[in-house]
Amino acid sequence: MTRFKCLRCSHCCFFTGEHDYPVVLEGEVKVLEEEARKRGISLSFIRIANGFYLWAIEGFCPFYDFASSSCTIHEKKPLSCRMFPLLLNIARGTLNVSMMCDWVYVNRERVFRSDVRQMFPDEVGAVSELLSRLLGTRVTMKPADSKNEEGGEEKQNPVNEAGDQEGKQQS
Ligand code: SF4
Ligand code: SF4
Repeated sequence: MTRFKCLRCSHCCFFTGEHDYPVVLEGEVKVLEEEARKRGISLSFIRIANGFYLWAIEGFCPFYDFASSSCTIHEKKPLSCRMFPLLLNIARGTLNVSMMCDWVYVNRERVFRSDVRQMFPDEVGAVSELLSRLLGTRVTMKPADSKNEEGGEEKQNPVNEAGDQEGKQQS
């Protein structure tokens, strides 16, 4: 099974407008503001619902480091960053894979044939964590069972191909 490996293309750290601003939780806003204070920068958030905010970023994220092509708050980055290239749309009840990610684009044929839980285990873990926080109960997304892997039954692939062209981090 091919597993996702970030190619550091930086596409997920560049934002062009409200449609692709990351959705962050209230607790994450506090963490981000604390990291921004340490660096002497200011951030902007738009409240969209109780406990939910849009992180308004124009251009590259202020925590993106060009020299290393990496995130400078990797251990503290919000769930919407941790789950990318998976896109959770709670309103529609869909989990999509972003074609804006270079790795996904290069491996798109495999992505649409594979079990997203095995291909993106860490990112699925972040989705589970987000759902657990929202629902106030632990949510797990188990890998397909061995019967499915052997082709005994059709795989349940949560990837919604119809939505794969969607923008970046959404909740
Ligand atoms: S917090 Fe890190 S991963 Fe998220 S957009 Fe900023 S630089 Fe990228
Ligand atoms: S878009 Fe995909 S490959 Fe590019 S930096 Fe983000 S996660 Fe990595």
